[in-house]
Formats: sequence, C-alpha cells, structure tokens
Amino acid sequence: MKVALVGIGKIALDQHVPAISNSPDWDLAATVSRHGSIDGIEAFTDLGTLLDTRPDIRVISLCVPPVPRFDYAMQALAAGRHVMLEKPPGATLAECHALERAAQEAGLSIYATWHSREADMVGAAKAWLADKTLRKLTVTWKEDVRRWHPGQAWIWEPGGLGVFDPGINALSIVTEILPVDIHVTGAMLEIPQNCQTPIAAELRFHHPAGADVSGVFDWRQDGDQIWEIEAITDAGTLTLRDGGALMEIDGVISGEAAPLAGEYPRLYAKMAELVSRGGRDMDLRPMTLVTDALALGHRVQTDPFND
Ligand code: NAP
Repeated sequence: MKVALVGIGKIALDQHVPAISNSPDWDLAATVSRHGSIDGIEAFTDLGTLLDTRPDIRVISLCVPPVPRFDYAMQALAAGRHVMLEKPPGATLAECHALERAAQEAGLSIYATWHSREADMVGAAKAWLADKTLRKLTVTWKEDVRRWHPGQAWIWEPGGLGVFDPGINALSIVTEILPVDIHVTGAMLEIPQNCQTPIAAELRFHHPAGADVSGVFDWRQDGDQIWEIEAITDAGTLTLRDGGALMEIDGVISGEAAPLAGEYPRLYAKMAELVSRGGRDMDLRPMTLVTDALALGHRVQTDPFND
C-alpha cells in the first residue's frame, strides 16, 4: 500500500521512515511538510495538493504535533483516505471522537497509535498480570527534555502536553497491561513560569479493587533516564524497564535493552491489517487519564525553562 507521511520532523525521520522502508506492506509514496523532505520521495508542502493529485495514495500517516493534527486528519478523511495518527491522537478528546465518527461514517480506517504498547515485553507483562491480584503499581518516567525534545516549542504551548508527551506513553502501557480501568483522582503539576504545560507531575489513581496506583513524571532528569512501571502483586513483583523493552519478575530479567526497537514496525503492520479488514482502533484511555490530570491538577509554578 502506498502511504504519505505528513510532518517530516523528529519522529518521522527517526522511526516512521525506517519502519515503512523495511516493511513488505508499505511503499512511502510522498511526504507533506512545510520545511522537511526525504531524498528521492515526492514532496508536497500542503496536504490538499497531495490529496487532489495522488488518488493512488490511500493512506495518510500524520506525524505533526497534536494541535495541528485534527485539521490534517479531517481533510484526509474527507478525501476518502485512511488515517494513522501519532500519539496523542488529538489535542482534545472531542477532536478524537469527531475523527472516529468521521472515519466510521466514511467507512475508512483510523488508527490512534500508541507506540509504547508495542514495546517487546508489554504483551508478556499483560499476560503475567492477567490472573494476579494487584496491590501497588508505580510509574516512574523521568527523562531529560533537552536531550529528547531539543528546540521543540510546541511541547510548552497549550495542547502540547509538556511532560505528559512522554508520560502518555507510560499511561498507554498501564491501560494496556491492567485488566481493569483506572482513573485519575489527583494530580500535582509543576509548570515553569514561562510555559503553559507541566515539566513535572505526580498522579494518583483510583483502582477498582483498591490497589495503590500512582505515577511520577519528570522532564528534568540528569544521568540515567528512567522509564519504569513496577507492579506489586499477591504473587510477586513485575517491573517493566526501558519503556517496556525489559521485564523483570522477581529478579529474572527478560528482553533486550533496546527502547523503541520493533515498536514502529509493529504499528505499521497493525495499520496494514486494519486497512485490509476495514477496521478502526481508537483507544482513548491514555488520553483520558492525561486530560483528567490536567483538569484535576493542583498547579505549582516552578523555575523558567530555557532550552
Ligand atoms: P517535531 O519534529 O517538532 O514536528 C514534526 C513536524 O510537524 C515538524 O517538523 C513540522 O514540519 C510539522 N508541523 C506541522 N504543523 C506544525 C506546527 N503547527 N507546529 C510545529 N510543527 C508542525 O515533532 P516530533 O518529535 O516529530 O513529534 C511529532 C509527534 O510525534 C508528536 O505528537 C509526538 O508526541 C510524537 N512522538 C514523538 C516522539 C519523539 O521522540 N520525538 C516519539 C514518539 C512520538 P514542517 O514545518 O516541515 O511542516
């Protein structure tokens, strides 16, 4: 299938282009970006022209930041194209619901991707937890924003999510591996004086069986980067490390320490499968947790952030 990539920036170049190039299912037929392009691939600077002139490209994969994503996605759906969405699938839940409705009415596929759910050990963690009684779950997601998001102004603007831009990856794993739904009961958000979004956050959750569920997210981490989820159960302790690439159960480690490896190839394989059977996948639970944290959050002003 021919696919066009929209928004040729960091994640498009780091992950989407290699995943598409190495896939037997996909042919990168064009790009849409105001400034970016890829050698040897037809480049457009606006989506409308691509949609009008390349009816053979049936799938549009959106790698732009969350705020501009809705307009691009609606335009693609209105032109009869299947749509793949980077995470988070929109800037607001209402946008995501509107996209899902539009895709359904048009009989098109739409896929709200959560790349961290495709990390190597997430499936095994879900299977192990399925018949255990959870007592406590702790998310620790601490990374250096300067290292992973250099010069990205949009993450600090309204709709940019701040530390929840990576933090939503943790929540996408938690909502996948737990057999029950949780919801946010309280949040503390640290917001730099000169920014609109949090640089750090602490969350507490309600778990239907009373387990103690919480998360700490921080974008000011020097040294080792930590992407961990620890689940203490009646039958031992499971820890996902390196964003789900490694799993430790009571001291026994499985997996290889290679964050992101395999995640995007699996997303594109799933998109191929969705398109071939006319399916849609819009799980909005990770985004609901983040928007609820922003709704309930107690805000504390902190030092200005300068990139
Ligand atoms: P990015 O490099 O800052 O942006 C991607 C491209 O989007 C830009 O190069 C820009 O290309 C285009 N764009 C269109 N409208 C824009 C606007 N209003 N403001 C800024 N850029 C705009 O971002 P990214 O890191 O690739 O992230 C894009 C999405 O992927 C985000 O939702 C993010 O959460 C997700 N993601 C990122 C990572 C990561 O490690 N960076 C990992 C996984 C997922 P033109 O100027 O050429 O149009």
